[in-house]
Amino acid sequence: MDNNATTRVAPEVLEVMLPFFKDKYGNPSSIHSFGGSVKKHINTAREQVASLLNAKPSEIFFTSCGSESDNLAIQGFCREHAGNTKLITSAVEHPAVRECCRSMAGNNIPLHEIGVDNEGLLDKEMLGKISMDNHTLVTIMWANNETGVLFPLQEIAEMVKKRGGIVHTDAVQAVGKIPVNLQDVPLDMLSLSGHKLHAPKGVGAIFIREGINIAPLVYGGHQEHGIRAGTENVPYIVGLGKACELAAEHMEEENTRVRAMRDRLEKGLLESCKDAKLNGYPEQRLPNTTNISFEFIEGESILLLLNEHNIAASSGSACTTGSLEPSHVITAMGVPDTLAHSSIRFSLSIYSTEKEVDIVLRDMPDIVDYLRRLSPFVKE
Ligand code: PLP
Repeated sequence: MDNNATTRVAPEVLEVMLPFFKDKYGNPSSIHSFGGSVKKHINTAREQVASLLNAKPSEIFFTSCGSESDNLAIQGFCREHAGNTKLITSAVEHPAVRECCRSMAGNNIPLHEIGVDNEGLLDKEMLGKISMDNHTLVTIMWANNETGVLFPLQEIAEMVKKRGGIVHTDAVQAVGKIPVNLQDVPLDMLSLSGHKLHAPKGVGAIFIREGINIAPLVYGGHQEHGIRAGTENVPYIVGLGKACELAAEHMEEENTRVRAMRDRLEKGLLESCKDAKLNGYPEQRLPNTTNISFEFIEGESILLLLNEHNIAASSGSACTTGSLEPSHVITAMGVPDTLAHSSIRFSLSIYSTEKEVDIVLRDMPDIVDYLRRLSPFVKE
């Protein structure tokens, strides 16, 4: 129930990776064919990633994770246009974008954070009011990791391009779950991460449209056309390529079987648990995610009891777990404190089963009832 935190590595992905830990361990930059022959597998992976996004292979660069891709887009842009940049982002970004933008703002780069309404939809009117030029980077996520709410990236990208800005999206939760077509959506940069789409943790990629220049974060050799130096993580890159190929094949299933399971889970929980409320716009959402508040109970207590029932869920981004503050995504939506503290995210995958949904539907009402009886906020 926590597949937005990370996903199972697909068996087909593991299989294509293994030879690169055994016999094919050469360095792809070597002159000799033992190493050099490995390079073609990186290029195949580049084609597989590009094909999923309908981009050119020359526009795909491999990184170590989604966070690195986000930082490369934002810091790389600010460094390329040093002293003359502006950043625009949303109030509900993942920390990889939010903290990066805030640290740039600490270096005297103007930063605007666009708010959302109580269903998590972006305030497009505000975006339309901020002046921009080709030194302005607008970085707005495609799919929210906590609520699954989708921002209308096509409309946002067209709006930003018309007004002369440069646009990046953190599509870490979108890629593999919904169609992403970069011929239709005029984005300049896009980040993705392997472990959210059944490749391993520790590999990611960034799309940089031809003609867009950014400075590297890691200097060194000529790997990845100098955008990201360092000997390539060949097995993981090969795995990411395969995962992208599989994602295209599984897109239909994500949007039918997984969506139907998510809907059954959501409907069942809202009906069987008293004072349960859905967070986020119900229509434009990832097919696998639901975020529900169980009013008057601490989300952390629910998670602990779910854990005792062998159910793994989450109260927000895995990167903010451990903090007792309610999620910045839920508070940005203006959700009252008693609901914000009690939000739980359930996120499925193509490997989720109806039986797993049955188990949550069976156990959750008792957990909620039990914790409500202990809650100091609930009066008999
Ligand atoms: N962006 C979003 C929306 C995410 O959900 C995550 C991971 O949870 C990241 C970025 C960071 O990706 P990674 O874990 O590969 O660094």
